[in-house]
Amino acid sequence: MKDFEYFSPGTVEEALSLLSRYKGEAKIIAGGQSMLVVMRQGLLAPECVVDVKGITALDYMTYDERDGLRIGALTTHRAIEKSPLIQKQFRALSEMERNLATIQTRNWGTIGGNLCHGDPAGDPAPVLIALDAKLKLKSPSGERIVAMERFSKDMLEVDLEPDEMLIEIQVPAPRPRTGVAHEKLMVMQGDAGIVGAAVSITLKPKDGVCEDARIVISNAASVPLRVIEAEKRLIGKVVNDQSLAEAGEVASAKADPPSDVHASAEYRREMVKVFVKRAAGRAFGIAKRE
Ligand SMILES: Cc1cc2nc3c(=O)[nH]c(=O)nc-3n(C[C@H](O)[C@H](O)[C@H](O)COP(=O)(O)OP(=O)(O)OC[C@H]3O[C@@H](n4cnc5c(N)ncnc54)[C@H](O)[C@@H]3O)c2cc1C
Repeated sequence: MKDFEYFSPGTVEEALSLLSRYKGEAKIIAGGQSMLVVMRQGLLAPECVVDVKGITALDYMTYDERDGLRIGALTTHRAIEKSPLIQKQFRALSEMERNLATIQTRNWGTIGGNLCHGDPAGDPAPVLIALDAKLKLKSPSGERIVAMERFSKDMLEVDLEPDEMLIEIQVPAPRPRTGVAHEKLMVMQGDAGIVGAAVSITLKPKDGVCEDARIVISNAASVPLRVIEAEKRLIGKVVNDQSLAEAGEVASAKADPPSDVHASAEYRREMVKVFVKRAAGRAFGIAKRE
């Protein structure tokens, strides 16, 4: 690993001022679970590493009906998984975290680091897109809000300027008659997903017809992919085996998955059908009970 300067700021302002001073040559490190891997592989060799793990002000979860859920960027996966608040109001988030990596990685890795790493196989992004989440980013020149859906630009590339930091994840309060579910294909518990699917379904008040749906697939394109065409197979329709299968078929047709040592593109396309149908079926079941 190439030598680098190391800073450990205690506040967001200090961190931003360092990013600004070393513009383009500084990289944030949070839990280091991804960052150290890419540095050791020589894919990144920053002159300066800004270790933000000590900024305790960004480790929080709050919830109220008006503002919804707010998660500080430095909240660990394990804290989200174990939070009674998340388990009660955002069960899909807690379930997703339980299947993410090992306890050791969840104890140290942060939700912000996961999203900023921009891995299309990452689990939090599809769930957060299904939940219609937004991200608060901050730089020395101010703040901006970006929809989670638009944050990933390409493989390992996100909408983040060199002097910008992810501060907070914002999730609206759950809508009535809404179910959200996440499913991923793992060889072993905690493995990165060969493919994944997160689905949100909102039902109309009386007839069980789908009022709204969000379908997102992971490790099936260069970014976590929202498939609006697949959602249209559910919206305005009675949700049944046939419409769920059609949504899976359309999502699969829109996927552009990689072929690698874990699975061929063709296999992933087949699995997108299965996992979208499975996640949508489970989301529908939850929505009926809400
Ligand atoms: C063994 C193993 C198994 C894994 N399995 C899974 C899995 O099943 N599913 C899954 O989704 N992930 C998995 N991961 C990835 C893991 O979840 C992420 O590595 C971790 O969440 C990243 O968080 P971190 O705090 O360690 O980020 P870091 O590694 O410190 O940083 C990652 C990137 O984000 C940037 N960054 C970090 N925080 C901020 C911020 N606040 N603002 C701006 N930029 C920031 C860094 O500059 C870097 O580019 C696995 C990782 C390991 C090591």
